[in-house]
Amino acid sequence: MVKKELKKTIQDLLEQTPWSRNEQYLRNELIGRSMKIAIQNQDDENEAYLFACLYTLLLLKKTDQNTIACEIQKNSVLKKQADKIKKMVNDKKLFTKLEKDMMLGIHFSSMKTISTQIILTHNQFKNIKEIKEKIKNYTTTLLQNFQNEFQEKPEYQNLKNEFEEWQKDDLEFENRINKLLKDLKEEDKVQEKKSSKRYYTLDEYYKKTFHQKVFKVSLNAGFSCPNIQNGHGCIFCSNQSGDFAGDKKDDLITQFNTIKKKMEKKWQTNQYIAYFQVATNTYAPTKVLKEKYESVLSLPNVVGIDIATRSDAITEETLDYLEELNKKTHLTIELGLQSIHEKTLQFIHRGHTLKNFEEMVLKLKKRKIRVVVHIINGLPNETKEMMIETVKYLNDLQIDGIKIHMLSVIKNTPLETYYQKKPFHLLTKEEYIDIVCSQLEYLNPQIVIHRITGDPNKNELIAPKWLLKKFVVLNDIDKELKKRNTYQGKLVR
Ligand code: SF4
Repeated sequence: MVKKELKKTIQDLLEQTPWSRNEQYLRNELIGRSMKIAIQNQDDENEAYLFACLYTLLLLKKTDQNTIACEIQKNSVLKKQADKIKKMVNDKKLFTKLEKDMMLGIHFSSMKTISTQIILTHNQFKNIKEIKEKIKNYTTTLLQNFQNEFQEKPEYQNLKNEFEEWQKDDLEFENRINKLLKDLKEEDKVQEKKSSKRYYTLDEYYKKTFHQKVFKVSLNAGFSCPNIQNGHGCIFCSNQSGDFAGDKKDDLITQFNTIKKKMEKKWQTNQYIAYFQVATNTYAPTKVLKEKYESVLSLPNVVGIDIATRSDAITEETLDYLEELNKKTHLTIELGLQSIHEKTLQFIHRGHTLKNFEEMVLKLKKRKIRVVVHIINGLPNETKEMMIETVKYLNDLQIDGIKIHMLSVIKNTPLETYYQKKPFHLLTKEEYIDIVCSQLEYLNPQIVIHRITGDPNKNELIAPKWLLKKFVVLNDIDKELKKRNTYQGKLVR
């Protein structure tokens, strides 16, 4: 129970701490490394994770150590536990435990010691150096005691070797981290000058999170959509969004393997996100969802799952299940919104209100589930200012990612009929680029850009045809950002 509480407090702290992108990278590196050591030493993995997180907070956020300790002290259950440990220290019992830890694995026990010290004496130590010094002194004394007692025994030599290795390794590790931090800062500066991408791409996010390229495999799980079932359907919906998704006649595993095989020929990657793309992928009983999601998650090298859905199609039961799923894998929920303007939502037959959408985002965020939102530029009667208002609103909701689309008229959709009868102005490429660049300037820099233009099927597209030149649009966005000497988040206050 205490461990669970402590874990939650530390996870909350990790969440609340503002991490730069480079720090996030280092954080994952540190946690990964600590976990590896813990597993080698056969330590409790949960406990290892917990202390690795603490260690990470300390190492990367040196000035925050008092905050960590205060947060922990605020919690009465933890305080009780801290008092118990304090008593153990006074009775010297804790040292006996630490001696045992040392025999088991010095690397990990050093983290545990640091963390325990912090919990116990949060205001006693002013900086991490002091704490580490104290631990070093303690370990040296311990070794000297062993020397007197066990000098002749082989265990002593083993322990001595291990200790010396630890000191060497610990120093090397710190040097490496410091060097890495320095290099990354330099790299940041160079990238700022050189990078043609002045926005936070999905590719960059995946590389930071998974340390290599990750490919999204689009699946068609055969779900329907409540908005179609109630007879409306979104005005632009071709009922087959996801032209590059698997074939719904195949089961999910076959779809996944077929796409993966194709991708392996093009890209060098062995990490995949299973993307439930077509229709509303939470529109079924939780039991059915569980079976479908978990069948692909059990495949090797699947590191996460993305689920595209609507804000009015997630039940409380499913939310609880998603919360659990999120603890096991990298889960992202993609919600369609398209616009924050109620008149537009009615015009496109969205079938839910902005309030409904907002409530669902808050529910997902409360459960710490990543949220990506889809918006459409160029909807009839919307001005540039209205489209910018949409992204400003999403900033406040603290979403994790965004997909920006251009409105496209697709064959056999209600929008095609409307467009033929009452042609309206579709944005030109130049207008679209101007709007997207302005939206990026107002968009929080931590929000990952999952998509910045559409990718319609050329046989289905009625207009605008410029959308077929995806790479031209992407290049022109880069050029415009450079010309304006601007970047994502420049105008965020
Ligand atoms: S929510 Fe998606 S699947 Fe449902 S009608 Fe709208 S676009 Fe089509």
